Amino acid sequence: MTTIFLKPHKEESLKRFHPWVFSGAIARVVLDATHKAASPEEGELVAVRSAAGETLGVGHWQVGSIAVRILAFRVEELPADFWRERIRAAYQVRQTLGLAEVRRDDVRCTKENNTFRLIHGEGDFLPGLIVDVYAETAVIQAHSVGMHVCRNEIAEAILAEVPQVQNIYYKSDDTLPFKAPVEGEKTGWLVESQKTASLKDKSRSDEFWSVENGLSFRIDWLRGQKTGFFIDQRENRALVERYAKDKDVLNMFCYTGGFSLYALRGGAKTVDSVDVSQKAIDLVNINVARNFPEATNHTAVAADAFEYLTAQKAQGRTYDLIILDPPAFAKHRDAVKNALRGYQRINAKAIEMIRPGGILFTFSCSQAVDKEAFRLAVFSAAAQVGRKVRILHQLHQPQDHPINIYHPEGEYLKGLVLYVE
Ligand code: SAH
Repeated sequence: MTTIFLKPHKEESLKRFHPWVFSGAIARVVLDATHKAASPEEGELVAVRSAAGETLGVGHWQVGSIAVRILAFRVEELPADFWRERIRAAYQVRQTLGLAEVRRDDVRCTKENNTFRLIHGEGDFLPGLIVDVYAETAVIQAHSVGMHVCRNEIAEAILAEVPQVQNIYYKSDDTLPFKAPVEGEKTGWLVESQKTASLKDKSRSDEFWSVENGLSFRIDWLRGQKTGFFIDQRENRALVERYAKDKDVLNMFCYTGGFSLYALRGGAKTVDSVDVSQKAIDLVNINVARNFPEATNHTAVAADAFEYLTAQKAQGRTYDLIILDPPAFAKHRDAVKNALRGYQRINAKAIEMIRPGGILFTFSCSQAVDKEAFRLAVFSAAAQVGRKVRILHQLHQPQDHPINIYHPEGEYLKGLVLYVE
């Protein structure tokens, strides 16, 4: 195997189990005999050693500022049962959380929830890998070429370890490094049951439903965003349900209507769902019709958030409860300043439209914007519009998106629930 030797003292973070080796920390690369090129191949497994030759771990080689993502520490090779062992460990956490309860007799999930994140990258000690489970389907997303290379082994391990999974879809078109030379398809079925095998017509993915806290969602992993659904808001949606009774609710950036369904179940007077994507709005309507066929108090509109809020304000529209769950405004560090301005602007618009005694749920999923910076942006918004605002809850990502204690960068979702006088 190819061996990477680090510069002196660059082993410290690896000894503390931080899973990344930056290219600047590398002193030299000793290629194994199989190589024709002058450097390792992107995605290949490499061993990492300190300057003194101490074994630090083994991981996937990558082109870029992160050169290696460590899969196993203090070993030279991956153990033979590595994938099964890691997936079993991840699944055990979800079982502990009650998200993936399996009845031994007929191997079925509880009816309340069969939607959960099985693998959350570094948070499950598998950097570069995301796996979401929707009822009997797992959707794998590789963020590194190394994980792409291992996709079939990973699929086999999931099938062996997670009883509810029968189909596995691979969706890495948008997540693999842009220029990486990868072999094989970046998207498509890795494992199909009879049900999916009959699904050659892609439009028939409409037969797939997943249940979150007793609410049904159509998950369109073929055409939807990310793996098809935002599982990370499950607990925060449940909190909206608690506050929704008799309220006029606006769910801004609604995607497939997660927060809207919980607000409806919580007894909201009216719910308006808004998203710029017409495809998302179509899914919201399908999901509302499935769960609340009699509902006449829900409206879904395809519109830009800023334009919608400006137009509604001009008409004197107000709400008791607003949810703001925008896409990541900062995709990387350089964009943080602009992102903070964006958060301030959208929050100011929302706070202005909240009736006295109303509530704002406001989120940021930008990893590059930390809790304090986000809070400062929301504070600036409140001050700008001059309302009395108190923080009722501080929210975060749920337990099936765990934060590896050695990799605090994994904390990305933050939210505030504000009481607006
Ligand atoms: N709250 C959702 C997830 C939101 S993801 C849930 O619980 O599932 C962010 C959403 O914002 C996406 O659906 C995207 O289409 C939408 N979006 C992006 N830019 C927008 C804009 N300018 N105005 C309105 N919606 C926008």
